[in-house]
Amino acid sequence: MTEKIRFRAIKGVRDILPPESELCNRVEQTARELFATYGYDEIRLPIFEQTELFARSVGADTEIVSKEMYTFADAGAGEGTISLRPEATASVCRAYIEHGMHTSPGDVKLYYIGPMFRRERPQKGRYRQFYQIGAEVLGQSDAPGIDAEVIEMLLRFFRRVGLDVPLADASGEVARGQSSRAGATSVTLFINSIGCPQCRPKYVERLRGALEKVRDRLGADSQRRIQTNPLRVLDSKLESEQAAIETLPRVADHLCVACRDHYAEFQQQLRLRGVAFTENWRLVRGLDYYTRTTFEITAPGLGAQNAVCGGGRYDGLIELLGGPKQVKGIGFAIGTDRLILALQETERQASGRGGACLAPTTVFVAWMGAAAYPPAVRLARRLREAGLRVELPHTEQKLKKALGLADKLGARFAIILGEDEISSGQFTVKHLATGEQTKLAEVDLVAHLRAVSGG
Ligand code: AMP
Repeated sequence: MTEKIRFRAIKGVRDILPPESELCNRVEQTARELFATYGYDEIRLPIFEQTELFARSVGADTEIVSKEMYTFADAGAGEGTISLRPEATASVCRAYIEHGMHTSPGDVKLYYIGPMFRRERPQKGRYRQFYQIGAEVLGQSDAPGIDAEVIEMLLRFFRRVGLDVPLADASGEVARGQSSRAGATSVTLFINSIGCPQCRPKYVERLRGALEKVRDRLGADSQRRIQTNPLRVLDSKLESEQAAIETLPRVADHLCVACRDHYAEFQQQLRLRGVAFTENWRLVRGLDYYTRTTFEITAPGLGAQNAVCGGGRYDGLIELLGGPKQVKGIGFAIGTDRLILALQETERQASGRGGACLAPTTVFVAWMGAAAYPPAVRLARRLREAGLRVELPHTEQKLKKALGLADKLGARFAIILGEDEISSGQFTVKHLATGEQTKLAEVDLVAHLRAVSGG
């Protein structure tokens, strides 16, 4: 006897089933439509790249590159290895350089949608294959208005998909009257500036010195990072380290004049756009390539993994990857899996705005008798052409059973096609929730269903 085989998805990866997959599509479609209004075009990137690309850009001693990448040898990789992409900014920059996009007029604004891979410890909202919607602006200018516009677009996106996004007053603070809602059920934008290659190294040295002084109040990971990546200590969520971290020098107090001005103007530009923000001096982000502006957006109801979007400026990255000097960049990545979780948590989702109510109305075609099948096939096609979602059984069913199935499938209407209907040419439309029935000729049916379903 053969052994019974049972395949399961690999640890940390998951299937996205309906209706969640439908929600993903809708979120992605919203991004496509909204980003296009800001002048962004899509770039479709490879899933794998040379490992060296990520080592250079993300940073060889980051957790992502040193521990979390799926890396393997491949004949196509030449000397080196290839890795499944852990993020996509590196790929966008590689493509920008490879295709000489710096000669394009104006800023190059690109968005991407797709899976990323990191061998992280799986938990709620953290997977080894996860999805991102990201965008990058590459060009000659580092004007703070670019940073602010990127964030304006992001917050409009979050609002459009159904999350609560608080409005700001002129100071950038969350407007009064909303403050009780803000935080509890709304998204929060955190911003910071981490300086540039001129001022950051001095700050990092100062930070390292201060960390040495509190070394014995830190855990093993943070102690190690004092040498390897002291900024990362600021990311620590360990309760026992918080008091020591609060005593550390803050980057905002050590920015050079140009970075300080950039940061101040960035905040001014956010206020101009009515964007509410909270400064967070500890927001340094995990990736090495960031300069100046960093930001993160958190959403309620997600537990420990509450960041739904992270981003920032990376002015030296193109050059670091062998591209033209002077190209500046800024971008973000939204974690689609977490965004979906956040949407599922909000009441708004439950009540339907941006959710299931946007799915096309389902119509069930219940036919009885072999003679009714060909007209049922024709009718189903017409209704589908009109954008309705149609369920057509392909074996004959008794009316009661058919209506029961229609109900279970979430259909709003059943169209009944029996002997009477065929001979009279008048089809019965049954509204399943109320039981109300109307008789209509086929030509009027499509218009009627579209009208009643708001199509
Ligand atoms: P990062 O590329 O690390 O800046 O992450 C950007 C966003 O991607 C985060 O804010 C998360 O929403 C999402 N993200 C990052 N890593 C994971 C993961 N392992 N699983 C699910 N979402 C993730």
